[in-house]
Amino acid sequence: MRNDIRSRAIVMGASMAGLWTARVLADHFEQVLVLERDHLPDGAEARPGAPQSRQYHILLRRGLQLLNELFPGMEEELIAAGAVPFDATWDVKVRTRGRWLPQFKSGQWLVSCSRLLLEATMRRRLRKHARIRFVEGVEVVGLEADEQRLRVSGVHFRRRQAQENEAATIESLAADLVVDALGRRSPTPTWLESLGYTAPQESVIDSFLGYVTRRYRQPKNFQADWRMMLLTATPPHMPRGGLIFPEENGVWVVMMAGANKDYPPTDEAGFDEFAQSLGPEFYTAVRSAEPISKPIGYRGTDSRWRHYERLERWPDRFVVLGDAFCGFNPIYGQGMTVAAMSAMALADEIRRSSGQLDGVAKRAEIAFGKVTKGAWLLATGADLEWPETIGGERSNGPAERFGRWYIDKVLSALADDQRVRLAFNDVNQLVKPIASLFAPEIMLRVLLHSVKA
Ligand SMILES: Cc1cc2nc3c(=O)[nH]c(=O)nc-3n(C[C@H](O)[C@H](O)[C@H](O)COP(=O)(O)OP(=O)(O)OC[C@H]3O[C@@H](n4cnc5c(N)ncnc54)[C@H](O)[C@@H]3O)c2cc1C
Repeated sequence: MRNDIRSRAIVMGASMAGLWTARVLADHFEQVLVLERDHLPDGAEARPGAPQSRQYHILLRRGLQLLNELFPGMEEELIAAGAVPFDATWDVKVRTRGRWLPQFKSGQWLVSCSRLLLEATMRRRLRKHARIRFVEGVEVVGLEADEQRLRVSGVHFRRRQAQENEAATIESLAADLVVDALGRRSPTPTWLESLGYTAPQESVIDSFLGYVTRRYRQPKNFQADWRMMLLTATPPHMPRGGLIFPEENGVWVVMMAGANKDYPPTDEAGFDEFAQSLGPEFYTAVRSAEPISKPIGYRGTDSRWRHYERLERWPDRFVVLGDAFCGFNPIYGQGMTVAAMSAMALADEIRRSSGQLDGVAKRAEIAFGKVTKGAWLLATGADLEWPETIGGERSNGPAERFGRWYIDKVLSALADDQRVRLAFNDVNQLVKPIASLFAPEIMLRVLLHSVKA
């Protein structure tokens, strides 16, 4: 292998983190093999390895920016396939803290479509890439390392058809870089231990949030001043929220969520009652549409960060990202975007290493830690406000107490100050860091609002 051209990277897992990563690695490796246990459909169809794909998925604005950067023309392609573009403050009717926010044009554009369409469109594009190959129906079962176990040198896998056959052979594939994009249930902690490394510490914060989702046909000749409706929960006393989310083909996803163990029911009568409890605007809209699926529930929404970035000893040439690194409470819609940001951080580390892969893996894990931190603070900061939440502790130093007080005032100002709302959206959509809310102009507005209120 020449120093400036790396020959092969293996990405384990062909879900969103795997797709982003394959795309960035194709700029740096002659061959990128994506190993996936499922057989991948050609179109926008569900598959067993990513069961969450049936739930609504929003790609945050930072994710959309990266999509456009890495897959030029993809946004238009999605819209041509029926995805719905929307202005975050004009097309979305938002109720937060019990107040409807004013609608105004901001140019903060997003696109809504099914997760299945997004993933299938990215996959289709990558299948055409000369350097990327999907190897489907294979289950990775372990890592291969060099003799000193200082460096991962490939993977062990077995073909799924052979699994029932007891003599299923384990095969090996060598690579110059191996990426774990295997999701929340990634076996990497065990694999690391078997190579003589320690498993990472985990931070787990659970606000006991449950989802229920049901798909509807949008009412014929639907006329309203919104394309999407969002009702947010407010800790510590209002655990319920709801969303009407447009997808391609005139479909509405009606999602309702309850934090703090106020789980929404999945039977029809219970679903209806929960919808009614969210208020007449939401309920009337839901009732005007025709259901086309049964309600599907989802629990297990804890945020779980495996702190690979903290491990002192790390095998070279091995990278863990996406949900395998950190899975977020999905209500905040961060997972796909943080996976994209992590893939970009990996590409940055490779570029910075100017032709030398050694050490990149460790530096990349540290970079993922930084990328993850902002999103983690947003997700868990809100979750820690619920009385039943377990895991994690709210720091009670003066700076943290001021931070919480200030964010509370920011949230109160959203209904009255457009500038504050746009700044808040930038943070929430992972376009800007939380620190940007503490810029003097924003602080002044927030403090003046709090004095007037
Ligand atoms: C209910 C719910 C709603 C969500 N909503 C949003 C949202 O609105 N916005 C958002 O950005 N994110 C959302 N997320 C998070 C999002 O789904 C994930 O962050 C995203 O899919 C990235 O995950 P991943 O690719 O790391 O892992 P996964 O999606 O879990 O994929 C792992 C892949 O690895 C494969 N695999 C597993 N084991 C093996 C093996 N041994 N060998 C080979 N292949 C294997 C699996 O088949 C799968 O394809 C939501 C999650 C949930 C649960």
